[in-house]
Amino acid sequence: MTHDPVPDLLKHAVEDLRQRFAYLPGHESAIDQSAIQHVLDMAAQRLADNYPYFHPLYAGQMLKPPHPVARAAYGLAMTINPNNHARDGGRASSEMEVEAVGEIAAMFGWTEFLGHLTSSGTLANLEALWIAGQLAAGKRGNARILGSEQAHYTHHRISGVLRLEYASVPADGSGRMALEALEEELRKGDVGTVVVTLGTTGIGAVDPLDEILALRERYGFRVHVDAAYGGYFGLIAGELSEPARRAYAAIGQADSIVIDPHKHGLQPYGCGCVLFRDPAVGRFYKHDSPYTYFTSKELHSHPGEHPPQRTPAAGPVHLGEISLECSRAGAAAVALWSTQKLLPLIPDGEFARGLACGRRAALELHRRLRSDPRFETMIAGTADGPELDIVVWKVKADSLEKASALAQELFDRCAEKQLHLALVQLPHSWFGSRAGIQNGSRNLGEQVTCLRSVLMKPEHETWLGEIWTRLTAAATEL
Ligand SMILES: *Cc1c(COP(=O)(O)O)cnc(C)c1O
Repeated sequence: MTHDPVPDLLKHAVEDLRQRFAYLPGHESAIDQSAIQHVLDMAAQRLADNYPYFHPLYAGQMLKPPHPVARAAYGLAMTINPNNHARDGGRASSEMEVEAVGEIAAMFGWTEFLGHLTSSGTLANLEALWIAGQLAAGKRGNARILGSEQAHYTHHRISGVLRLEYASVPADGSGRMALEALEEELRKGDVGTVVVTLGTTGIGAVDPLDEILALRERYGFRVHVDAAYGGYFGLIAGELSEPARRAYAAIGQADSIVIDPHKHGLQPYGCGCVLFRDPAVGRFYKHDSPYTYFTSKELHSHPGEHPPQRTPAAGPVHLGEISLECSRAGAAAVALWSTQKLLPLIPDGEFARGLACGRRAALELHRRLRSDPRFETMIAGTADGPELDIVVWKVKADSLEKASALAQELFDRCAEKQLHLALVQLPHSWFGSRAGIQNGSRNLGEQVTCLRSVLMKPEHETWLGEIWTRLTAAATEL
C-alpha cells in the first residue's frame, strides 16, 4: 500500500473543528487507548482478508476507492456524527446535502426538482418506484413496471415490496432494452412506469432513453432513469457512441433519476441519490411523526434553492420530510459536498477527466481482446466496444460448458497473478461471429460465463499494459 494522506489531512481538520467548540466546558472521558489500539490491530489483521480494491490491479467488480477528500471529510464529520433526518440532528450537514444534491441535479439540467441522498441506489430506486406507484394509485391496472432484462435485479424485488406488478423486457444484442419488445408491452395499456437504465450493472449498456421518451408521447407512462452506476458519464457524453450520447442528452426529460455517488462519485458506501423532476411529489412523503421538528413551507415551492432560505414562516428544509428513510448519515453529505468542492461536476473538469481515463482503458482492453484469437468480444456493441467502462469477454471453446469452465479458470489464474477480474453470466448469442448468428445456429436463451472487468479507476489507463501482460500470461497457462 502506498502512503495514505488521509490521517494527516484528518488530524489537521479535526483539530480545527475542535478549536471551534473550545467555548464549551471540558468533558474529557477516560478512554483506554492501548486497549483500543489492540482491538484496531486485530481489525487490521482481519481486514487483510480482502481483495485489494484500492489497487489498479483490482479490475473486477464495480468498486471504486473513495477519494481522500471524501474519506477525510467523512472522518471529520464523524467527530459530530450528524443525522440528516432533521435539522436538529444535522444542521450544517443538511444544508451541505441540499447544496451537493443541487449540484448533481444541475448536472442533469434541473434547477427545480425534489431530491435527496439515500443510503443506497436500491433505496433510491425504491423511493422512485414508490412515488410512481403512489401516482398510479386509483388508476387500477395502470401501474405495471417495466425494466429491461439487464436492469438491476433489485427492481423486480422492489416492485414486489411495493406490490406493483413487474415485467422484464428483452434486451437486444448490445444489452440495451429492445424497443419493439417494449412497445409490445406498452400496447397492453397497463404500464405505469418504464425503468430505463443508463449504464447497466453487468456490461454498462445504455438504454435508448431518447427513443423511449418518444414512446412516452404515444403511450403515456412515467420514465424512471436508473443511472446508479452510469449517471456521471453524461459529463463525457461527447466521448461516447452516438446512441449513448443521445440517451444522455435526453436525461433531463425523465420523471425521476437515481445516481449513486458511492459507485462512480468517489464516495464511501452509504451514498445514493434520488431526484424527481416535479417537486410536487413531495406531498406523498407527508407523515405525522411526533419527532418532526420543522415544517417546511419551502419544500413544495423551491426545494432546489440552495441554501434554503431561513425565513421564520417557512423554516428550513427538513430532509426527513422528503425522504422515506429516517436516520441518514450526515457524514455522507459532508463527504459528497467536499468532494464536489474539490472536483466540481463539470465537463472537462478533473472528475470528468478521470471518467474518461477509465473509458479509454476499457476501449483499449476491448481492442486487444478482440484481436486475440483466444477470446471473443461482444459482436453487436453499438460502438463496437464497451459503451462505458465495463469490458466483458468470453474464452473461445467448442462448447458453452467448456467456455464457462475456462472463464472460471482464467479468473483464478489471474487472481494468482494479483490481477483481479470478475465473472458474469451473459447470453451466448452476444458473442462469437456475425456469421454464427446469421446462420441461426445459436440458442438465444443460453447463458455462458464470461470475464468482466470494470475499469473505473483513472489509473486503470496507465496500468492497462500491466493488466494485459498478466491477463495474457494467465491465458497461456489454460
Ligand atoms: C448498483 C446499482 C443499483 C443498486 O445500487 P446499490 O447502491 O448497490 O443499492 C441499482 N441500479 C444499478 C444500475 C446499479 O448499477
